[in-house]
Formats: sequence, C-alpha cells, structure tokens
Amino acid sequence: MIIAVDGPAAAGKGTLARALAAHYGYHFLDTGSLYRMVALAVLSLGQDPRDPQAATRAAETLDPRSWTAEALRDESVGQAASIVAAFPPVRTALLALQRNFAAQKPGAVLDGRDIGTVVCPEAEAKIFVTASPEVRARRRSAELAERGETVAYEDVLADIHERDARDRTRSFAPLVPAGDAHVLDTTDLDISAAVAAAIRFVDSRVAKHSA
Ligand code: C5P
Repeated sequence: MIIAVDGPAAAGKGTLARALAAHYGYHFLDTGSLYRMVALAVLSLGQDPRDPQAATRAAETLDPRSWTAEALRDESVGQAASIVAAFPPVRTALLALQRNFAAQKPGAVLDGRDIGTVVCPEAEAKIFVTASPEVRARRRSAELAERGETVAYEDVLADIHERDARDRTRSFAPLVPAGDAHVLDTTDLDISAAVAAAIRFVDSRVAKHSA
C-alpha cells in the first residue's frame, strides 16, 4: 500500500503524511528532505546550487542516513532545494531511493511534489494538499519562529510565491496534481480536521482495492 501526499510548500503535507503513517502503521518518507540534503551538501562545499554539475554530483553521492542537520529546515535551504530539484539528473539520481522506500511492507507514505505523478504513479491513494499562499506563509512563519528563525511574514510569502512558481513551471516533474488525486484544501481546516478528511479518503481507497 502506497499513500502519495503531494502539494506546494507549507501546505501541511508533512504533518498530514506523518499522521497517516502513524495511523496505518506505515513507513514515512519526507522526500523534500532529500532535495534539501542535496542543496545543503552543495552549499556546504561552497558551491552554487545553480550549477547543475555540482548538484548532480551531490545527488549521486547522497547518503541520506548521514544527514540530521537542523539547517535542513532553513528557508534558504528550501530555496536552494527548489533550484537543484529542477535539474533532471538530480531527480533521476533520487528516484530509486524513493521507489525502494515506497516498496516496503506493510506500506509507505511519501510526501513531496511528484510522488503521485512520477515516483509512484501506481500509488493506491493520492492526496494533493493545498492552502492559500497567505495561510501557508502564516504557518511557515509560525514554524520558523518556533525554531528561533525570525523571518518577516512578507519575506516568507514572497519565498512561497517564488518556490511555487519554480516548482510548477519546471519542465521535468512539475508540481501538478495527479489526475486521480484527491485534492484537499486545508485553508480553513485545522490539523485534526485535515487528518480526519485524509483518513476518510484513504479508507475509501482501501475499501475499493480490497473489494
Ligand atoms: O517539501 P520541501 O519544502 O521540504 O521541499 C523542498 C524543495 O524540494 C521543494 O521546493 C521542491 O522544489 C523540491 N521537491 C521536489 N520534489 C519532491 C520534494 C521536494 O522537487 N518530491
């Protein structure tokens, strides 16, 4: 059983995907962290994330087990991640890792941008999580403040617009809902209501598959 949770930055995918994994007893992978690791590896070497060779080298030699850095969640690393993520060889280098993870029993929940469309098009349940850019910026600001990173709301909103545009318009694996994805707009939902709605949807897919 594979549950794909896709959507734009700060829509609540991570919280939702983690809650689904805990509810069903499945493995969980935050695929954004892989792109963040590649970006941080490039930045740590003093290289430019816009350099496709540097980004590809970092992706091809990535060992996700060696990364626990707090810095992965920084806004600047998220931005750099969306730059390296636009290079097709970077995405290709991370594909097998994600697919192997998804194949684990009894099931897996993966969150990202292209799980339902490219990484696991065969996923039994696909959820596309959205929320208005303003609500996402407010949630991201609160999350950053909690971690002690003070970024002005306007800057977070601008960052979200920029990252959305880059993720949606790249030619390889752009951010787009899969044709068979359930779109869940969390603009007016709190976490527990969003999780409850997602569980209802996944249960309906499971029932369909076992019928
Ligand atoms: O989800 P998160 O904000 O951690 O992702 C960081 C960046 O990694 C995104 O802006 C996106 O460009 C990229 N990403 C991707 N495909 C995924 C997951 C993340 O392109 N499956």
